[in-house]
Order: sequence, then structure tokens, then C-alpha cells
Amino acid sequence: MSGGLGKLVKKGLGEMGFNMGGGAINWFPGHMAAATRAIRDRLKFADFVIEVRDSRIPLSSANEDLQPVLSSKRRVIALNKKDLANPNIMHKWIQYFDSNKQDCLLINAHSKGSVKKLLDLVELKLKERISREPTLLVMVVGVPNVGKSSLINSIHQIASARFPVQEKMKRAIVGPLPGVTQDIAGYKIAHKPSIYVLDTPGVLVPSIPDIETGLKLAVTGSVKDSVVGEERLAQYLLAVLNSRSTPFHWKNLNNRILERLKYGSVDKNDDKLRALLPKKKKQLDDSNVWYIEDLVTQVQHALYLTFSEFDGNMEDENDLESLIEEQFIALQKAMKVPPHKPSDEARTIVSKKFLTLFRMGKLGPFTLDDVPETSDSTH
Ligand code: GDP
Repeated sequence: MSGGLGKLVKKGLGEMGFNMGGGAINWFPGHMAAATRAIRDRLKFADFVIEVRDSRIPLSSANEDLQPVLSSKRRVIALNKKDLANPNIMHKWIQYFDSNKQDCLLINAHSKGSVKKLLDLVELKLKERISREPTLLVMVVGVPNVGKSSLINSIHQIASARFPVQEKMKRAIVGPLPGVTQDIAGYKIAHKPSIYVLDTPGVLVPSIPDIETGLKLAVTGSVKDSVVGEERLAQYLLAVLNSRSTPFHWKNLNNRILERLKYGSVDKNDDKLRALLPKKKKQLDDSNVWYIEDLVTQVQHALYLTFSEFDGNMEDENDLESLIEEQFIALQKAMKVPPHKPSDEARTIVSKKFLTLFRMGKLGPFTLDDVPETSDSTH
């Protein structure tokens, strides 16, 4: 974390009244802790675990409490949403997990090809070790919103194509109470040995050792926006983008709109796009697609201009804060939020739209976590 960003995050917590009541932020509803205990029990009967993480935060999207249990299991870390992460540094993350003797694979849960590769790896890992067991169970776990359901959904489709008549799982699972077998269901993905992926994912509680991890989890959607507030999240995201000079790369925007339309980067069926439109429309037509592409260009242009005209010190949290203030004003104009709106309301609209653009990858792919320095890379 660069100096200015680190200080701004701390300042946000304290002086800026980030934390109502002054106590520790309550990131999760209390019942989520009980979920960890339940998962621990369920993990006992899994022969293999697919731990789904977000490629944009390969470490921040882990659950630390369960890492000892998970690492004692046969496991693969599926770094999902690879389409949203910076492709130029992902090889460093693969190297990082490799050097920790941890199998990992970059995936996109919506792509069948990608999910098939993951299933091939699961099968390989299971067959090379346990070939005598007739039925093996695979469990999908991960913190909220990393794409567990999307992955299981794709697995379901692949399983149905491989085995059109899906057999019932023939393995009695003994529940926590004596004599009670648990009702579990799964999708058969392989034969001899039969491998089933359980249809219900295990939801892990994210670990939040520091405020920045919490902010990253909120920006990527594992923590509800209301815990921190959209405006703080947008400020944090702007601080990260500025401290990495990302807006500078948005300089060459000529012909961008035409190019994007030509390559059809906008999916008109994507529901989330509607959140960016001025009025709710039933169907996204070409004019709305133009509107969104134009919005992206305007936003990037506004951030590029404010960034390139900034003559302060990015390491100084006050300077960085005033740049972010200017960017909020520029974004309000770029997003055509009426100037007469009360400023609180306008800032919320700007923040929400900005977060939506980022989360959909419209501002480009981006990885928020930094690869830890390993002893190898320092020599
Ligand atoms: P879960 O809470 O872990 O079960 O997460 P979901 O499967 O409900 O996914 C959360 C959101 O992430 C949904 O809007 C998905 O469409 C989206 N999502 C899941 N996988 C991917 C992916 O690989 N790429 C992108 N861009 N979005 C994804």
C-alpha cells in the first residue's frame, strides 16, 4: 500500500467519522460465525474442496480461520472472475501459489471451457491419490459473492451433458447426531470412481484483519455496501486507482466508443447495465449501449484530466484527498448528475455508478491485492 493511500484509509476510519460509534466495524451479521462451525462439520465428509476466491483479491477473499482445515484437505484454489482481474500480473499470483505448494487455477465461472478445465484438474488430483474409493465428494466453498453458485450452476450443466441420467449419490453421510444420515445432493461429473460435486456451497465468513481488507471485500461485493457506505467505497477505489496512476492510462480514448461497439463488448442482456441508465428501461437497445459506452469514456476522461492536472503529492493524504474531491465533482458532471441535486444525494449517485462501472470491469480489469514478496523474489 502506498503511503498516501494507507494514511487516507486510516484517516477515513478515524477523523472522517467512518466508523459510527467509535467501536470496531460490524462487518457481518452475528449468525455468520455459526456458519463457520457448520462448514467445519460438513468439510469432514468432503474428499476434495474447491475453494473459490476472487481473482481481484486472491488473498483478501480467503477465510483465515478455516485455512488450517482447508490446507489439510485435498484442495484447489479457483481464482474466479479472471475476466475482471489484471491479466498482466496474474502469472505472478500463480507463481505465488505454486511456491506455496498450492494448486490454483484461474477461472471464469460463466465459461464452460474454463469450468471443464477445473473439473479435469479435480479429477486428476482425486484419481492420482484415491483410486479405490468408489464414490468421492467434492465441496465448493468460498466467501460471499465470489461466484460459488455460478460455478455450481456451470458444473450442473456440464454434469448433465456428461451423464444425462444423473444417478442418486450412493454414499450415506452420517450427520452430527448418531444414527442420522444427512440428506445431501450432488452432480455426478465422473465415473470410476464416481465423483460428485455437492450442490450446496459452503459460505465462508471473510477474515478482516484490517480496514483495507474490509474495503477490498466491499468493493468486490463480499461485504454489503451499507456496512461502509458507497461514498467511502468510491473514495477508497479512487485512492487506489490514483496511487497506481491508472487514470494516466486512459489518455488515448479516441475512437474508443466505435471500437467497443465493433467488438461488441456490451452484453445487452446484462441486467446490471440498467443500473447505469438514467431511467429504468425494459430492454437495452443500441442507444442505451451507446449511452453506457459514452458514460465509460466520459468517466475515464474526467479521471484522466483531474489526475494529469494534479500537482500535489500522492504520498500526502491531504493532497490525495483533495484530488479525490475534485474527481467527485468531475464525475458528477461526466455522469450528468444534475447540479441542483442536494450534494449528499448527488455524491451517492456518483459513488454507486462508479462502483457499478468498476465491478462490471468497465473501467478495465484490475487486481486490488498485491502479490506478497517471497524470499525468492527478493533475491
Ligand atoms: P456466490 O455468492 O459465491 O454464490 O456468488 P454468485 O455465483 O451468486 O455470483 C456473484 C456475482 O458474480 C453474480 O453477479 C455473478 O454473475 C458474478 N460472477 C460469478 N462468476 C463470475 C465470473 O467469472 N466473472 C464475472 N465477471 N462475474 C462473475
